[in-house]
Amino acid sequence: MSAMAFAVDDDGWVRGARVLPSPNVEARPVGAIPTLIVIHNISLPPGEFGGGAIADLFLNRLDCDAHPYFDAHLRGLRVSSHFVICRDGALEQFVSCNERAWHAGVSSFFGRERCNDFSIGIELEGTDVRPFEDAQYAALGALVGALVARYPIEALAGHSDIAPGRKTDPGPHFDWVRAQSAAALDDRYFPYQRP
Ligand SMILES: [Zn+2]
Repeated sequence: MSAMAFAVDDDGWVRGARVLPSPNVEARPVGAIPTLIVIHNISLPPGEFGGGAIADLFLNRLDCDAHPYFDAHLRGLRVSSHFVICRDGALEQFVSCNERAWHAGVSSFFGRERCNDFSIGIELEGTDVRPFEDAQYAALGALVGALVARYPIEALAGHSDIAPGRKTDPGPHFDWVRAQSAAALDDRYFPYQRP
């Protein structure tokens, strides 16, 4: 077990995270509470790690002239996620868990649409073609543990599970068994992995 521990405060911010408040946020619908955790991967430019472009994107300050991919795909995009777990396991938080971040897009969790309304998004810095780092699983386990302790979380899903055909992340290198073990959760939290 990792000695790492996080706790979520009443305002939905995690102590131990680097806080970078994103403007891409809105209130959850009345009565909506987080019951789902959505796992993603992201790297910017794709396949390159570090450099700060993910944070810049979520803070609407990415220089889209700095790379052809940014210019072609990210100009004018307004997105966010609650969390990013960097390659070294560092945790960044962009949106309070009590609020709605813009990470899932068009999505459906067993027929319930608009997953952003009722989910918390966790981005692992990575790609579909490379394994994730030990430090990322350790941080993910600690974070998920803190979220389950604070909110009535019922399930974890990959972005590809709730937006099949449109999204492929977190990809085949994301080790769900390892994530489950790191978070110390039983099979019912993984309806797509343990149907
Ligand atoms: Zn995603």
